[in-house]
Amino acid sequence: MLPTRGYAARGPTSLLEPFDFERREPGPRDVLIEILYCGICHSDIHQARDEWGGAIFPMVPGHEIVGRVTRVGSEVRKFKAGDLAGVGCFVDSCRTCESCRAGLEQYCEGHVAWTYNGTEQDGKTPTYGGYSTQIVVDESYTLKIPANLPLANAAPLLCAGITTYSPLRHFNVGPGQRVAVVGLGGLGHMAVKLAASMGAEVTVLSTSKTKEADARRLGAQDFVVSLDPKNLDDLANRFDFILDAVSAPHDLNAYLNLLRRDGVLVLVGVPPKPIPVQAFSLVLKRRRLAGSVIGGIRETQEMLDYCARKNIASDVEVIPIQQVNEAYERTLKGDVKYRFVIDLKSLKE
Ligand code: NAP
Ligand code: ZN
Ligand code: ZN
Repeated sequence: MLPTRGYAARGPTSLLEPFDFERREPGPRDVLIEILYCGICHSDIHQARDEWGGAIFPMVPGHEIVGRVTRVGSEVRKFKAGDLAGVGCFVDSCRTCESCRAGLEQYCEGHVAWTYNGTEQDGKTPTYGGYSTQIVVDESYTLKIPANLPLANAAPLLCAGITTYSPLRHFNVGPGQRVAVVGLGGLGHMAVKLAASMGAEVTVLSTSKTKEADARRLGAQDFVVSLDPKNLDDLANRFDFILDAVSAPHDLNAYLNLLRRDGVLVLVGVPPKPIPVQAFSLVLKRRRLAGSVIGGIRETQEMLDYCARKNIASDVEVIPIQQVNEAYERTLKGDVKYRFVIDLKSLKE
């Protein structure tokens, strides 16, 4: 076994603190990755505080992982020692169901091994995430990180990037379409960059007045403060597509009403409590409400290669792991531009 250092939450109300554990020895198809950077996703906070239920403690969060391969198993073909590698939100899946066979492992009908707060395919061994010095992952669930992307800025692509890229692609967002992004956080700022890069006209709907200049710099053509209902009234029936990346409860109907006929609102944000939907918000304009979770391995690689071609990565604030608890508090206040990324060097010193 490989002794590994991490940071873990011991329970839903505890701060994250140093935690020593063991990774498995790499098997024939595994790669051992020295973790260099790991992003802090709002899902880490939801789960470390057990806001979604079913949390497994101690929990080492982190699913926006980039690092360097230090060892590979005898059957590994995609990687060699010294290569850059990435790991996203899952490290295995059943591999046989319809979704897995379609390359949509995130929708596996069997068992998905989430990168943390989950179990391996044996259904028993707990998984531990990227707030740690190293990770062992089957090469089939490991991504290639293009060399031209700055590493710390690339880490958030493994969740925030693919979570926004996938629905934009699935619903064919492109030139001539009006897109709104609700919530300019880690996911939201990637959604703005990606939708703009695909040729859409992007509007940011935000509760934070102070984010307007950033929204425009990221590629938005318009910025509307959503706290004033009148501002939203002016946008009724305007958008083809809305991506809702808000982490907390909010009035979904106010946003559904901004869709034109046949428009689609995709929820990627996962607030812990149910949100009421007015039937009239949907039926009168044949609007659709959909959800989407991350993306499969194939599409995640496609997204990384797309970002490399378009020079797109995340805007990040790099921190040592000792500041992780403070970073959680600042994320909850919306005080981050636009993703905290942990430099794991701080855990190796
Ligand atoms: P984040 O960086 O904290 O951003 C969330 C944004 O939501 C904030 O910046 C803020 O934007 C807005 N917001 C926060 N509280 C609000 C409130 N009370 N009312 C209205 N707006 C509010 O979080 P994130 O990492 O982007 O994650 C966002 C959500 O997506 C989380 O729930 C996370 O768990 C979920 N998620 C889902 C997937 C998936 O696959 N579906 C993947 C990753 C994350 P403004 O300041 O602009 O209003
Ligand atoms: Zn995430
Ligand atoms: Zn499956």
